[in-house]
Amino acid sequence: AQATRYLQAHLRDVPDFPRPGILFKDITPLLAEPRAFHMTLDLLVHPFIGRQIDAVIAIESRGFLFGGALAARLNASLVPVRKAGKLPAAVDRVAYALEYGEAELEMHKGSLRPGAHVLIVDDVLATGGTAAAAATLARGQHAIVAGFAFVIELDALLGRSRLAHDGEAQVHALI
Ligand code: 5GP
Repeated sequence: AQATRYLQAHLRDVPDFPRPGILFKDITPLLAEPRAFHMTLDLLVHPFIGRQIDAVIAIESRGFLFGGALAARLNASLVPVRKAGKLPAAVDRVAYALEYGEAELEMHKGSLRPGAHVLIVDDVLATGGTAAAAATLARGQHAIVAGFAFVIELDALLGRSRLAHDGEAQVHALI
């Protein structure tokens, strides 16, 4: 609880971003404070230490900021999931619903070995649509989603229940 309060003090609420009426959780103050960033990485990785994690899937773009560091700590592969059109080689693609409209995420074909255990990482869990789409890509390559790790969970949006439907994966959020 004390750690959570410390990390929370390094978040900034930005009103009306990216659109009027949205209160955006800005993580850049947390990235800027070495002690807070280090603590975030320690706490994010903690439940997955000693478990089989073959690959960390990092979701563009703020998931990249945490995913690389977590993959190094877990001795796991790092696999980026990106918005449409960014990855250079052949991709698998999934479309998912946003609050307004639709988006697509892509992962390189052959990124995951069948049966690989993966951890999906992003900065914020909101409705869960983005993380669920990443899980769909992973399962499409016959991987097993062992867990999800987020710095922030906006629990009023019930994203966790959406991911919980997705089998046995552990959903881990710090704040
Ligand atoms: P979801 O798909 O769960 O509704 O939205 C999660 C995605 O939107 C994540 O990739 C996350 O980076 C982004 N996102 C949504 N709301 C916020 C927010 O308030 N702050 C930040 N940093 N990202 C957000």
